Amino acid sequence: MRIGFGTDFHRLLKGRKLFLGGIEIPSEFGAVAHSDGDVVLHSLTDAILGSIGKGDIGDHFRDTEERWKDERSEVFLKKALSLLEEEGKYIENVDITLILEKPKLYDYKEKIKENIAKLLTIEKERVSFKCKTNEGLGDIGNSNALQCFAIVLVSTKSNL
Ligand code: MG
Repeated sequence: MRIGFGTDFHRLLKGRKLFLGGIEIPSEFGAVAHSDGDVVLHSLTDAILGSIGKGDIGDHFRDTEERWKDERSEVFLKKALSLLEEEGKYIENVDITLILEKPKLYDYKEKIKENIAKLLTIEKERVSFKCKTNEGLGDIGNSNALQCFAIVLVSTKSNL
């Protein structure tokens, strides 16, 4: 078994689109980023890469390259997943914590979780997606930023 951890942080700006776990969320604010700024998928991508020691998202997709501008983050996640599969490994479970002041995600949590399971091609019982606020404090509390943490456990496929 191997374990991987990833985190991501983005600034928020009025008028930008907000993507979380591959789902567009109606919001006044969206992430400032070269890609679509999906902190959930970025942290998850880094966690998967971390579990197999394959660097980080920036090593594979440089934010100075025009071709990744506004790219949907599913592309990054799929790349990490294919590297994981090449190593003969599969995901046991993922646990994700998003820290965001607003909007409230009650109506979207299940949808985000289901989409992550779909993207990872695993059962949704293997995906945990949790949300917290920053109690109104700091940049996250003031809705100037958001942050996500992800951890993944992977196993090696048996040849039996
Ligand atoms: Mg990012």
